[in-house]
Amino acid sequence: MLQVKNISFSYNKQTVLDSISFSVNAGEHVSIIGESGSGKSTLLKLLYGAYDLNEGQIFWKNQEILGPKHNLVVGHEFMKYVAQEFDLMPFISVSENVGAFLSNFYPEEKQARIKELLEVVELTDDAKTKVKNLSGGQKQRVALARAIAKQPEILLLDEPFSHIDNFKKQSLRRNLFKYLKEKNITCMVATHDKDDVLSFSDRMIVLHEAKIMANGSPKDLYENPQNKLIASFFGEFNNLKSHGILYAHQLKLVDTSNLKATVKTSYYKGSYYLIEADLNGEIVFFEHPNQIENGLQIHLAI
Ligand code: ADP
Ligand code: MG
Repeated sequence: MLQVKNISFSYNKQTVLDSISFSVNAGEHVSIIGESGSGKSTLLKLLYGAYDLNEGQIFWKNQEILGPKHNLVVGHEFMKYVAQEFDLMPFISVSENVGAFLSNFYPEEKQARIKELLEVVELTDDAKTKVKNLSGGQKQRVALARAIAKQPEILLLDEPFSHIDNFKKQSLRRNLFKYLKEKNITCMVATHDKDDVLSFSDRMIVLHEAKIMANGSPKDLYENPQNKLIASFFGEFNNLKSHGILYAHQLKLVDTSNLKATVKTSYYKGSYYLIEADLNGEIVFFEHPNQIENGLQIHLAI
């Protein structure tokens, strides 16, 4: 189990994390979300022992994670960290990068392991390509494969799919998270993407103003967003004087009701239109199967 006990940290004067505590069970998948600059990357680096804490302690099982002041070499065998900017060896192949830290003692097992890892990140066809010739997204996948090569107990991922295009992202995400669950690898993911969280995380931690604003199951936080920041992470929402926070899909057009609005714009979203309307001076968004003429008077219901 990972235990974070009252940690505080600042790079200079401004406090980035202020007395934060949480714990993560072995095999659990936890997302860290929050606005840019809220401290997601900093938190992952602290968990990795990259900086010294101002206050507090971090434990993995019974071992304390200590910063560089107490440790000659940052990092541990049981923990791997994939940074937003990944650090690979450009002049050797994808396979060689993935196998860089695997033992040469059992060459056949090593090759089999590399093959399995390349399948997880869908890079089998690029096994022999030099890393310097890869796209940003492909490099990110090599970094992921290398991080899981020696099967860590805990994996820290900083926006792991940020460079990967939508074609690849969906299947890669399913492969990787399924693999981690099968191997019972604990995983902490800093992300901006609700799809990383809703389908794959057991829990999400929301950072805001140096504190943990929420720590709960994605389903609970989605269904009962306590505030606008949390609702906005999940999608288009309204904050109506009369009804509080409502997602766009919770409002629908009806024949008659006491919520009268005037349509302003229809945005095409593929499987539906997002309609922007004026409700007594408040802007509301709702979903509708078709485009609606601007200026049309309509009625809404929840
Ligand atoms: P996030 O990953 O949520 O976008 P970060 O952890 O990168 O946030 O940054 C949190 C805060 O710390 C920001 O205000 C950022 O400017 C600051 N910060 C990040 N890295 C450094 C650094 N190496 N030195 C000084 N300030 C930093
Ligand atoms: Mg970051």
